[in-house]
Amino acid sequence: MVVVDTYICKECGYKYTNKAEIFYFNDNLTELEVTLKLALTLRNLSKSPLYGSAHEKYCPQCNEYIRTYTVYKNTNKKNLSNEEIINKINELSKRKTNIITIEEGKNNNGENKPSVSSYMKVKKEEEYCPVCGEKIYAVYNDMKCPKCRKGKLNIECGVCKIDRK
Ligand SMILES: [Zn+2]
Ligand SMILES: [Zn+2]
Repeated sequence: MVVVDTYICKECGYKYTNKAEIFYFNDNLTELEVTLKLALTLRNLSKSPLYGSAHEKYCPQCNEYIRTYTVYKNTNKKNLSNEEIINKINELSKRKTNIITIEEGKNNNGENKPSVSSYMKVKKEEEYCPVCGEKIYAVYNDMKCPKCRKGKLNIECGVCKIDRK
């Protein structure tokens, strides 16, 4: 099951699709793939030495999308250092502005270890733009349109669309 939300601006027709994504590297860590989280692509993960989840966030100040990458302890199969992970993603990603978080998981005492991020996070759920420092968001209903900056993005109902045809 893939959750895909589409937002549309009535003013200019701009469309944005919010989707659950995953990222993974090939065997020798020379290629980085970001793709939809589908059963088919999940199969590729078992062979990958480094993978995790990916999300797109939006910075209203820069008017740019920023991708966040999250790596978990058990998805870092080659035990790369945090620095190696951050460098690899930044080197091979198409965009140069990324937020990379490495979840350390639990330590030997079963306590949660804090996650390490390539950019400072003040609170767990809040992320800030690496360029301007503004708070960034996932695209949401009623958000100002990134294209025309006049209209608002409204969620498009998939069911209603089928009914209209
Ligand atoms: Zn920004
Ligand atoms: Zn617009």
